[in-house]
Amino acid sequence: MSAEHYDVLIVGGGHAGAQAAVALRQEKFTGSVAILGAEPHPPYERPPLSKEYLAGVKSFERILIRPETFWAERGVSLLLGETVVTVDPVAKSVLTEAGRTIGYGELIWATGGEPRRLTCAGHDLAGIHTVRTRADVDRLLGEWDAVERIVVIGGGYIGLEASAALSKFGKSVTLVEAQDRVLARVAGEPLSRFYEAEHRAHGVTLMLGVGVSCLEGVDRVTGVRLDSGALLPADMVIVGIGIVPAVEPLVQAGAEAGNGVIVDARCRTSLPHIHAIGDCAAHSNHYADGAVIRLESVQNANDQAVTAARDIVGRSVDYDAVPWFWSNQYDLKLQTIGLSAGFDAAVLRGDPAVRSFSVVYLRQGRVIAIDAVNAVKDYVQGRALVQAGAVIPPELLADTARPLKELLLS
Ligand code: FAD
Repeated sequence: MSAEHYDVLIVGGGHAGAQAAVALRQEKFTGSVAILGAEPHPPYERPPLSKEYLAGVKSFERILIRPETFWAERGVSLLLGETVVTVDPVAKSVLTEAGRTIGYGELIWATGGEPRRLTCAGHDLAGIHTVRTRADVDRLLGEWDAVERIVVIGGGYIGLEASAALSKFGKSVTLVEAQDRVLARVAGEPLSRFYEAEHRAHGVTLMLGVGVSCLEGVDRVTGVRLDSGALLPADMVIVGIGIVPAVEPLVQAGAEAGNGVIVDARCRTSLPHIHAIGDCAAHSNHYADGAVIRLESVQNANDQAVTAARDIVGRSVDYDAVPWFWSNQYDLKLQTIGLSAGFDAAVLRGDPAVRSFSVVYLRQGRVIAIDAVNAVKDYVQGRALVQAGAVIPPELLADTARPLKELLLS
């Protein structure tokens, strides 16, 4: 056995890793627990990185998941600034980049993902940023005063949130999206069109259906060359095109993997004594019709953490949580319940013109998801419809005079 050993070693100190430690203690686990994380900070919330932290309205201390003292008080060791490079499932130990070997009784792999990078010419010029860690955002803000023209590549949540947060500084923000609408991967057209109009109204230039051919500049980026040949001048580029799950050491150790490491309903990987949770874990999700998917959300990170902790203490419960998500842009709060992928009909409930409405997604007549924009009641009441897979006539769903909670009963 290695000299250094923890009964539970959690690799990754993000939302999932932090919650796993909290849940173990809540489950009265008395063994030794350590969180080993590549970042030098105690666990912090990632969502504000593209919202309040980027906009400069929340300090880092205010986005810590727990106060710094919490971990020592709960007997959770924080091993920060350490990256696991090898997992040995037979010896039950990990090796870090710094050459430290640490043994474990149970390993929880909670490593999230790395931002997907562009691969075109110029992708590694200075002035090109991603938004995944505090260090990413601090680097970006460190250059902020010297830049005037920002190009954001990718019209998913992170690109849109970053555009919203940065648009208030009076600089030029242009968002380039390869699909013909923003949020194409995660939402229906009414929602995309609404957000496009909002961003334009706040001065963001949107270029849709536009591919990037390369980034130009000598040392530092000066422009984004589009597939059309046109050049967008840029002093800073922010790339938000998704993540690649950080699972290499587990895959090398023999874990079954696809798009992420495969886990069962209790978040167990195919390797003994190793669970995986959060953004890096691919699981069969009830709300995706059983499809094996990865979810990138705080809800999934937290709920899978609890599932793994319970399994370790012998009070196993299968993971079956209803997916939910939120996104803040300008004064708009989007709340999503369920998973809309694969919908075959979308019902608009309310009027986007008054900036409070919902989109209800159906598959074969069943409610599978709701996107609620400044419509908290629909979000709260819609949960039961999604959970039940309720079959409700579209004209009733569209009728705002009928609260959603009444529809389940009718
Ligand atoms: P992470 O939080 O990414 O944590 C993984 C940690 O593991 C990282 O600190 C990483 O450095 C570390 N690590 C990786 N590899 C190793 C290794 N080999 N050794 C040691 N450590 C390692 N979700 C929402 O629900 N709502 C939102 O509004 C929202 N906004 C977001 C905004 C941004 C900018 C980002 C980036 C994400 C957002 N998300 C949001 C998604 C949410 O933050 C993630 O789903 C969540 O952080 C996943 O938690 P995790 O613990 O799986 O991964």
